[in-house]
Amino acid sequence: MKYKAFHKLSYGLYIITTKVNNNNAGYIGNTVFQVTSEPSQIAISCHKKNATLEKILQSRIFSISVLGKNASTSLIGEFGFMSGTEIDKFRNVETKTAKTGAPIVLDSSVAWFDCKVVATQDVGSHVLIIGEVLDSEVLSDEEPLTYAYYREKYKMLSPKNSPTYIEKEKLDGEQEPVKKQKAEPQKKEQEKGDNMDIFTCQICGFQYNPEEGDPTAGIPPGTPFEDLPDDYKCPICNAGKEYFKRN
Ligand code: FE
Repeated sequence: MKYKAFHKLSYGLYIITTKVNNNNAGYIGNTVFQVTSEPSQIAISCHKKNATLEKILQSRIFSISVLGKNASTSLIGEFGFMSGTEIDKFRNVETKTAKTGAPIVLDSSVAWFDCKVVATQDVGSHVLIIGEVLDSEVLSDEEPLTYAYYREKYKMLSPKNSPTYIEKEKLDGEQEPVKKQKAEPQKKEQEKGDNMDIFTCQICGFQYNPEEGDPTAGIPPGTPFEDLPDDYKCPICNAGKEYFKRN
């Protein structure tokens, strides 16, 4: 089996939320898909270690916000890589209350769906949840974010709780298709030097490439990782420099 084949499956990125006992909960998911049109039903797959799962099963409601192509990376980082037990993910986001009572995240969203749970299926590490759509709205004409675009742009890994998570070692062990390989000019390699090494965030997989810098943090291209300020934070998951490792 070739694990990279799974990267050829297309997905979007979504914020899935619920509310129970007056507490909001939510996470980023890519496994959201419509399963029937009449009635309109949508399925999500949620990891058993995800704190939101229990709350959805309790409240029997959830909302889905469809993220736009230019979605905020810090929003993705907080909802995707941090736990609601560590931070209040909703403290900086604009929400509205759905008919079901679930909080709909409006920031970076191009559409939303409000659902009530009609069926669940234990599938091992995850629970498949099917919801009937009670309400929905389009918020913007912006293109929705695709998972492939997100992975390519940010060189990101799936969070470990994602149904599509594949260990980096498994992917690294597989060869790239031959035609995609482009030989790097040798001279460029030599010029690079040690201090232009790429560093990877061990929490979320974001790669800091000195050649690109980090425009979101005002770090210009050509800045070696060692020269980043001590309080530099991963733009995706907010982890400090100490969580980065040289590739
Ligand atoms: Fe990170």
